Amino acid sequence: MQATSHQFKDNVKRAMGDAELQASLSKIKNGFVHKRAAAAAALPEFETLRDEARDIKNHVLGHLDIYLERFTAEVEARGGHVHWAPTAADARRIIIDLARDSGARTITKSKSMVTEEIALNDALEQVGIEPIETDLGEYIIQLAKEPPSHIIAPAIHKTKEQVAELFLRHHGRYGKTQRLTEPTDMVREAREVLRQKYLDADMGITGANFLVAETGSIILVTNEGNADLTLALPKRHVVVAGIEKLVPTLEDASTMLRVLARSATGQEFSSYTTLVTGPKRDGDLDGPDDFHIVLLDNGRSGMIGTEFQDMLRCIRCGACMNHCPVYNAVGGHAYGWVYPGPMGAVLTPALIGVDEAGHLPNASTFCGRCEQVCPVRIPLPRMMRAWRTREFERGLNPTGQRWGLGLWAWFARRPRAYRLLSRTGAAVLGRLGRGNGRFRRLPLAGGWTGVRDLPAPEGRSFVAAWKADGRPTAMPVSPTQGTTGSTKP
Ligand code: SF4
Repeated sequence: MQATSHQFKDNVKRAMGDAELQASLSKIKNGFVHKRAAAAAALPEFETLRDEARDIKNHVLGHLDIYLERFTAEVEARGGHVHWAPTAADARRIIIDLARDSGARTITKSKSMVTEEIALNDALEQVGIEPIETDLGEYIIQLAKEPPSHIIAPAIHKTKEQVAELFLRHHGRYGKTQRLTEPTDMVREAREVLRQKYLDADMGITGANFLVAETGSIILVTNEGNADLTLALPKRHVVVAGIEKLVPTLEDASTMLRVLARSATGQEFSSYTTLVTGPKRDGDLDGPDDFHIVLLDNGRSGMIGTEFQDMLRCIRCGACMNHCPVYNAVGGHAYGWVYPGPMGAVLTPALIGVDEAGHLPNASTFCGRCEQVCPVRIPLPRMMRAWRTREFERGLNPTGQRWGLGLWAWFARRPRAYRLLSRTGAAVLGRLGRGNGRFRRLPLAGGWTGVRDLPAPEGRSFVAAWKADGRPTAMPVSPTQGTTGSTKP
């Protein structure tokens, strides 16, 4: 996928003006946010489990070399093969070699963000191999030739009518010529089309939610069962996973699973949780003859020991983006690469560079809701601030912004001058805006007034108002607060 993160502002403008996208994004609140809050409230030990999940991942990251070696040994002891891919290009080459070796012409795939990260589908198509996405959301966007816009609901930006139109256009060759209106009918039709493709596929590719070091197993979580058909029906199963997916034991994996489903979809457990340990053994009724795991680094090991190491705890639940006011306003495509929302704002600069993705850490109000809901307690706002610092240090911000920040810093270090300036500014703006109570345009505030009015100050600075009126006894609570706990000051 060609990154367009550097065009973030243009992407945002397009997204804000797209009425169908805005209608689709409104589903997030009822679909994910409320369900997650209810699931968390129903489990008294949920907060303790989050602590444990954080600690498990921290432990693995502190001993990654040991667990990678153990995992590899256990996979090989059970007849599987492990391939190391330092870069995305290495991973693509390994997978294409495996596909050619098995004579593959079609490959079924279950949803995997890491295969989006390495742009696997394009690479397969370029060598004449057809990848077939089997997760319903991924299948829809594959038909639409679009990238995913959410890490667990890749087609969340599509309306029901758009999906019906896509199916009508692409399913005619399978004898499906009726325009469908009900989601259940669309699911049934997609299932009928995909069933034969599972049976015809020469190779199946999945990701992995977790890699279990003590047994060499992979764990896959879906709500559609498509990963099970993808891995069990073809002769060869190839798993692609980032090196950070490791957990030490099955016991640890069960802790992670308890927070994953609740954080992602508000379910106690996903409909299908599958453990795969090596290829088919004597006596097994089904399963692949051949089992390969491609372990991808692609910049991850470079994050260890830096201020971005905590990001490697991410279990791709999507909760941070579901609760993010910026993601909810602009959707996933605006972020311009594979990973959107707060986790993308941290991970994308680490993987493709701050020069390309420097806008993303700025796409935050720092409300802190992402960190509040993250099941592994990743301090996303702190890391976005760290990227902003790097961006500033490297001189990547616009000159006007740098001058503005420098000027603000000068005054901030001189409290008396700062108070004088804010008093004067508040008084002047208060007087100028007295008529309307707001400004339609204001010099140096074009970024704000270009899309909304700027409320006029009442005429006093905050400090002056505080001194005159005394400390307020209670702060008002916004309607968005309270679903996941209180916000920090
Ligand atoms: S950063 Fe946290 S909340 Fe966001 S996807 Fe990763 S684990 Fe989930």
